[in-house]
Amino acid sequence: MRYAMAIDTLKCVGCSDCVVACQTENNVPIGYCRDWIVEAVDGTYPQLEIELRSERCNHCDNSPCVRACPTGASHYKEGGIVAVYHNECIGCGACIQSCPYDARYSHPEGYVDKCTFCYHRVEKGQKPACVSVCPTNCMYFGDLDDENSDVSRMLKTRKYKVLAPEAGTKPMVYYLI
Ligand code: SF4
Ligand code: SF4
Ligand code: SF4
Repeated sequence: MRYAMAIDTLKCVGCSDCVVACQTENNVPIGYCRDWIVEAVDGTYPQLEIELRSERCNHCDNSPCVRACPTGASHYKEGGIVAVYHNECIGCGACIQSCPYDARYSHPEGYVDKCTFCYHRVEKGQKPACVSVCPTNCMYFGDLDDENSDVSRMLKTRKYKVLAPEAGTKPMVYYLI
């Protein structure tokens, strides 16, 4: 089992419904977020291309954040989901410093938080909240070891990229291009 997400940059309209859904589903405090929208501009005027992307923790297969954590609070769950045991986190911030994607934040209650791939929903057979609300259906989630999963089918038929591959973290969030 290897959970992954594929996000279609050609279909994302930057509406932020995924951000709002995540904040509601996961009780993310006001002023913080587990996912966010990036507007990347490429080229030079007048030949400009704009890519809208919903970003979050990449649930890296080779996570510097898990290695950096001194207490074991940052860990892998089944299927490679990277998560934080809040009660084992001392809030030292080593994981925040080690993440090349700035995907973690310090929760006001004293622990570090980030996207969990909504494993509380996934373990019940539901899709992550952000995936389930997207009005353009531009996000796909599933098991890369299952060739019939939504995410496997998209990666078989489309071109894709990952963010900052040079960091060597082996991200499990793929962007369809
Ligand atoms: Fe860790 Fe950052 Fe990778 Fe998420 S994106 S697994 S927080 S290194
Ligand atoms: Fe681990 Fe918490 Fe320190 Fe992050 S802030 S490295 S999760 S103890
Ligand atoms: Fe938020 Fe869940 Fe989507 Fe992660 S998978 S960004 S926790 S809604």
